[in-house]
Amino acid sequence: MRTALVTGGGRGIGAAISKQLAKDGYRILLTYCNSSKPAEMVVDEIRDSGVDAVAANCDVTDAREVALLATHPWVIEGIDALVINHGRYDRIDARNLDIDHLRRTMTTNFEGAFLTWNAVKSNLTDNARICVIGSQLGTRGSPHGADYSASKAALSTWARSLAQSLAPEGKRVNVVAPGFVDTDILAGDSPEKRASREQEVPLKRIGTPEDIAGVVSFLVGDKSSYITGAVIHVNGGLYLP
Ligand code: NDP
Repeated sequence: MRTALVTGGGRGIGAAISKQLAKDGYRILLTYCNSSKPAEMVVDEIRDSGVDAVAANCDVTDAREVALLATHPWVIEGIDALVINHGRYDRIDARNLDIDHLRRTMTTNFEGAFLTWNAVKSNLTDNARICVIGSQLGTRGSPHGADYSASKAALSTWARSLAQSLAPEGKRVNVVAPGFVDTDILAGDSPEKRASREQEVPLKRIGTPEDIAGVVSFLVGDKSSYITGAVIHVNGGLYLP
């Protein structure tokens, strides 16, 4: 059976990805940092569907924890799909960004991705697929998330560099860049803010985690066999680069 490793796979977009890839025939090794309960619920749901799944506690900012993750038996047996999904976003005016906050965001969103890849790279199977969750803000920037936008831009260009480097081995790397997606990241929105976001999106709705998971499924699946180094924007037409 093929194995997928999904970072932050226990809630939000990551949970939808874990469940979708389980349907696609992968056994799921998902990681969580602080939220063990939702992660265990996702694992239970996947197991109830007859697919094997396990949750591992791993703070991607901690090199020792990431190194420990790499010793998991399913990693040793070989990772067929690596989905780097974890991320943090704190709304903060770009003018007020301080160095500590910038470092926290870069360490989680970018360095955490690098540490994870670096720890498991020797266990990627031939023709492994890597999918990185970026953001529209990684291209467009944001007055309320300069650190987040910079971290996602770094993630995206890093992933595209890896794609070029790994292509001769038959391994593919792609980026999914979501727009507004209905998860805890938007939970602080007032009803008015939510309505204005919906109006802003040409398709007139906020995206669902499943909207993103479907594209990840395509990118780690066989039907995208000639796509690597792509950044796929999934945003209801909100931003057309
Ligand atoms: P959530 O806040 O719902 O989930 C964030 C996930 O990241 C959680 O699983 C969390 O794990 C994990 N995580 C955070 N910090 C760490 C860490 N240090 N180590 C390991 N895992 C960590 O966000 P979403 O589901 O919305 O976001 C998923 C991805 O999609 C992120 O990369 C985000 O930037 C991106 N995205 C989301 C958009 C949106 O509108 N929702 C738009 C564009 C991009 P735990 O809970 O266990 O701590």
